[in-house]
Amino acid sequence: MNWITNYVRPKIRALVSRDDIPDNLWDKCASCGHMIFHRELEELLRVCPNCGHHMRIGPERRMEILFDEGKYQTVELPQVTPDPLRFRDRERYSDRLKRARSKTGQQDAIRVAHGTIKGQPAVVAAFDFSFMGGSMGVAVGEGFVTAAREAVERRAALIAVPASGGARMQEGILSLMQMPRTVIGLQMVREAGLPYIVLLTDPTTGGVSASFAMLGDIQIAEPGAVIGFAGARVIEETIRETLPAGFQRAEYLLEHGMLDMVVPRSELHETMGRILNLLMVTPAARGHGMADEAFGEAGEETEAAGETVEEKEVERASDA
Ligand SMILES: [Zn+2]
Repeated sequence: MNWITNYVRPKIRALVSRDDIPDNLWDKCASCGHMIFHRELEELLRVCPNCGHHMRIGPERRMEILFDEGKYQTVELPQVTPDPLRFRDRERYSDRLKRARSKTGQQDAIRVAHGTIKGQPAVVAAFDFSFMGGSMGVAVGEGFVTAAREAVERRAALIAVPASGGARMQEGILSLMQMPRTVIGLQMVREAGLPYIVLLTDPTTGGVSASFAMLGDIQIAEPGAVIGFAGARVIEETIRETLPAGFQRAEYLLEHGMLDMVVPRSELHETMGRILNLLMVTPAARGHGMADEAFGEAGEETEAAGETVEEKEVERASDA
């Protein structure tokens, strides 16, 4: 220590005060290194204007993008026993949980909300990758089942948006049990005759991709998303072969028939609305020859779609 570090440097720091300049004025694209003005990047829904790289976004932003006018109601999720196995690896699981909770301000890695998409009722269950890698433990399983129940109750479509490294190993077998649980949850939605759509985002791997995330009536992915079960390195080491370029990327999976479409973030709301307007035609409406009408109008105008819903509601009421 000398007077330069102790005295001069703080003085200089004070002179060129950076207090009024936010640290996050510029963002750097992780894919091409392009520097993007922070506000501009937000307007572009965190998609790089230079290379089209889709950066990860949290569940709140996801809901804003998906729901009409960015408006939605959050669904309260049930509390579960924290750290049921009193697990400890390098540190206590309960400490990890605490840290993730204070970092994100949320209880666990899933968020559920309901609202409308192009006038159609929908329940969205979105993962938060920043909460312990979006891993699926009991709380996430419970959250997903809650979303499924909510969809059935509201006669709404269920949309799952996974961003997850897989099952949460700190909950051992209990986390693996969430795989069949979530599948049973979406089965309720299916039995109610409601659509179940999966929007795969970067990354969707492990136990999540091995359960509900691959069972959508329609499988959509964001461009460039990594989707798979085991990691590419593990597979390469196991089969001792070099994997093809673009392996486990959304575009590769689309080419090989694992996905129905890859949709840029800017077109998600529009595309999701169009799909829902096609799938949400009730049998009552079909009987009255409204199906053709709905198919013809699908995705054109919000008002038109809203009208169809209202008319259907009226008919259902008169049937009863
Ligand atoms: Zn880029």
